Amino acid sequence: MTNVVTMPLVAGADRRYEELLDSIGEGFLVLDHTFRILEVNAEAVRLDGRSKAELIGRTHWDAWPESVGTPIEAGYREAMAQRTAVSFTHHLVSDRYDYWFEIRAYPVQAGVAAFFRDVSPAQRALDALQRSEARFKAAVAATGVMWTNDTTGRMTGEQPGWSALTGQSRAEYEGYGWANAVHPDDAPATIEAWNKTVATGEVFNFEHRIRRRDGQWRTFAIRAVPVLAPGGQVCEWVGVHTDITERKDFENAMLVKEARLRLATDVAGLGIWTWNPQNDTVTWENTRIYQIFGLPENADPLSFTVLAEQYLEAQDRAAFEVASRHTVATGARFHFQGRIRPADKSLPRWVELAGEICILEGGARGVLGTISDITGRRKGEEALRITADELAAADRHKTEFIVTLAHELRNPLAPIRNGLQVLRMAPGKPDTVVRVCGVLDRQVGQIVHLIDDLLDMARISRGQLSLHTQRVDLNDVAATAIETSLPLIEKGHHALSVHIPTEPMLLLADPHRITQVICNLLNNAAKYCPDHGNIQLNIDRDDTDAVLTVTDSGIGIPADALPGIFALYSQVKEHASHAQGGLGVGLALVKTLVELHGGTVTALSAGPGQGSSFVVRLPLGPHDPLS
Ligand code: ADP
Repeated sequence: MTNVVTMPLVAGADRRYEELLDSIGEGFLVLDHTFRILEVNAEAVRLDGRSKAELIGRTHWDAWPESVGTPIEAGYREAMAQRTAVSFTHHLVSDRYDYWFEIRAYPVQAGVAAFFRDVSPAQRALDALQRSEARFKAAVAATGVMWTNDTTGRMTGEQPGWSALTGQSRAEYEGYGWANAVHPDDAPATIEAWNKTVATGEVFNFEHRIRRRDGQWRTFAIRAVPVLAPGGQVCEWVGVHTDITERKDFENAMLVKEARLRLATDVAGLGIWTWNPQNDTVTWENTRIYQIFGLPENADPLSFTVLAEQYLEAQDRAAFEVASRHTVATGARFHFQGRIRPADKSLPRWVELAGEICILEGGARGVLGTISDITGRRKGEEALRITADELAAADRHKTEFIVTLAHELRNPLAPIRNGLQVLRMAPGKPDTVVRVCGVLDRQVGQIVHLIDDLLDMARISRGQLSLHTQRVDLNDVAATAIETSLPLIEKGHHALSVHIPTEPMLLLADPHRITQVICNLLNNAAKYCPDHGNIQLNIDRDDTDAVLTVTDSGIGIPADALPGIFALYSQVKEHASHAQGGLGVGLALVKTLVELHGGTVTALSAGPGQGSSFVVRLPLGPHDPLS
């Protein structure tokens, strides 16, 4: 269509015509057929910033090179060639301006005339609106699915988002049909909460599971807000469903993990703490740690300083400070064992703290660690150590004993061999034979005695020693024992004094074993007295006990040896020269035999060179007239 505006447009038009053009509120220009500028009005000059003289005579493309290749060029060329009016809006930007122009170009006789208006403010507002809508759409698309409900909370109209999500058709979701897409376990609570929201007009925040159109159950977070009319009344509800399945799974996994960790630490009795070394603040993460420190669960966690100064035993403080400083300085693992005095005044405890460098809540570098009560373990270790020491000592004793035993067994063998030699060379010499046989007899007797003691101890340690108890008079038993020990006493030229009561001391006892007890004590008295010593044997009554005491004026026993004197294989080192074939078994046998009879034995000595006393108490039997 041809739409030619007839205007007498030539350069140098009269003044009135120019004033008319300048009075137009829009920009105006006229281009000739070669797009050379014939005319520009005052508004065009204002918009452009250059004078008329600078513009007139130049081609449009020369004056505004930024318009080349734009809809402006296309529009002007179209108006020129087609002789038709063209209008369009274009955003023209140069280093001098930034305009949205609304342009209307008309074919005129001279070429093309164009009116142009700066519509930047309106265009920018529109642009912003479009962008915000696009952003909103993108945001909704990014976060979830949008839907709308009417003022009564019912779903109506087209809901493309909802349909895409659930696969529900309009007929299916309308009204409260949408609730059928919600998991049956969650639907009642959803409807109840939704009705409450619609009634109160509050923002709706909820979580539930939805069956997606592919049949999968997914967890969604829902947020819905009322859209208010200018009068303030709700005109509809807009909601967004955001799929939080992965987040929820992660949260659940974290909860399970945390519960497991808590269980593990509870079962292991571990307290959990964090420490911020910058300000020495500490958090306690479970209740176990309060129990360890004997504090109520509402107490404040102890800072490391308070822990060290008020709870740790003084001798462990330095190690604690060194360990914590080392971790902070080097990032190495924190480890410490020490004793604390709990706040509830319970017994001191051994605790073990272990920790690793971590990033605390809030981003500070700190230490995350555990504390455990290791009192039981330490006690066990201590007991084990003592047992191990005792075992080692017993082992040492046993080795020493075997050496002694070997010696003691060998000692009688030399005279026996000599005796045999003499016998072989002295046939027909009855005196020699008698003398040598006496020697052999004594030496064999020595060996038998040693072996008997050993066998007795072996029986006792296996619990196989049985007593043949009968009613006996201790005075008679003592007399037998004296008879047996007399040769040894006489050998040492000792003086023996015996004080035995006139009335019988009736016991229920094994006479053979009690004789053995008294013999051992008398033999020891004889052995550990230098020649011409004094030995006393007393028997007395003390209430319901018979008390037998063997006292000698011999070499005595050092105070430090007294407590262990009855232990098996124990021998006082300084007495080795007096032992005469002893193995440290005699007194152990005495003690065991006396105890088997329900009695006690004690050793007394004022020290080396001051003699010794052994006191045996035995309960008097039921036949004793006074008991
Ligand atoms: P032994 O066979 O070595 O004498 P015992 O068990 O009879 O072993 O005695 C243990 C140790 O006790 C002896 O080695 C000795 O050192 C000390 N002892 C025992 N009796 C006396 C005593 N009457 N006077 C001094 N020391 C004694």
